[in-house]
Amino acid sequence: MEGKKGWTRRNFLKTGVIAAGAGAVGVMGFSPMALAKSRAHGTMIDLTKCDGCKNEPVPKCVEACRMENEEKFPHPKEPIKDLWPQKTHDDWSKKREVSNSLTPYNWTMVQKIEVEGEDIFIPRRCMHCENPPCANLCPFGALNKYEDGSVVINHDLCLGGAKCKAVCPWHIPQRQSGVGIYLKLQPVPAGGGVMYKCDLCHGRIKKGLIPACVEACEKRLGSKKPLFFGKRDEILKLARERAQEINGYIYGEKENGGTGTLYVSRFPFEKIDAILRDTQSSLLMGKVENPLRNVNRWAKGFLIGPIVSAIGAMGLALYHKNQERKEDGGWRKKSSKTKV
Ligand code: SF4
Ligand code: SF4
Ligand code: SF4
Repeated sequence: MEGKKGWTRRNFLKTGVIAAGAGAVGVMGFSPMALAKSRAHGTMIDLTKCDGCKNEPVPKCVEACRMENEEKFPHPKEPIKDLWPQKTHDDWSKKREVSNSLTPYNWTMVQKIEVEGEDIFIPRRCMHCENPPCANLCPFGALNKYEDGSVVINHDLCLGGAKCKAVCPWHIPQRQSGVGIYLKLQPVPAGGGVMYKCDLCHGRIKKGLIPACVEACEKRLGSKKPLFFGKRDEILKLARERAQEINGYIYGEKENGGTGTLYVSRFPFEKIDAILRDTQSSLLMGKVENPLRNVNRWAKGFLIGPIVSAIGAMGLALYHKNQERKEDGGWRKKSSKTKV
């Protein structure tokens, strides 16, 4: 059984406006989707073992992720319109080959830094936070934390407002404009596009498979692999043991209230973070707090969010009502592909 609220288009529409209120509750730090922690999965990334696949054209984990998720990548409708009220848009569709940044077409990447004369490679992707501010804030219920530990964006519901990126301590989700349901709803003052990020291979976990990146890394390095996947409790135990063994440090045990992606390093993460800052990286590894604790900072979104949600929900309701008529009163099975 799906380990989250069984969101369908129908019950989303029924509860669309209520969801706006739920978003507001999320701002106060209450998660309506508390996890059955024992079922949550996690990943440990041992930075003492990753060599960045430096002899490969593209790191194997990155390559595997792209292949696994290719069908979910966006196909924007040209010409891409500017977002409202901004006068810009985000377009990665002409830079699909980029593999050294997180983009809608590249959900994991490997950073390289030098620490005390040693090359360190850091695979980066969504941290799959235990209490994810992105999912708690999303006013449309398009982002959810599942019992398997994954935090997943529903591309059929996302309107690309990018609040999830703003509230994510690592700014992980990336937007592609000119795609998604908003195209059918204009004018809706809720941004435009769809957000994309690592979904922990939620679909593969459901089938009893391990994430594609972990599998690819294991194929290449066997028992010397730096990526480990399993139940979060066991992964945390493994990370603690490894950290003790190398007299090292863990990142993700406490950050943002705990994350499903855990890193182990022999260097302190404060040092790694400082070096990443020096290299002008936008993907850092510092101490982070759950930003939703700072209610003042998010008060604006707190007030505006429900209003925008209500407008969006009404727009969606009208759109689906029309669709329902067209489809002879029946509801089509949800497509995993973004409709444009
Ligand atoms: S995690 Fe594995 S596959 Fe990815 S860069 Fe490191 S060694 Fe290569
Ligand atoms: S890392 Fe960012 S996008 Fe991923 S679950 Fe946490 S808050 Fe959400
Ligand atoms: S868990 Fe899946 S979606 Fe996430 S980086 Fe790995 S392959 Fe990509």
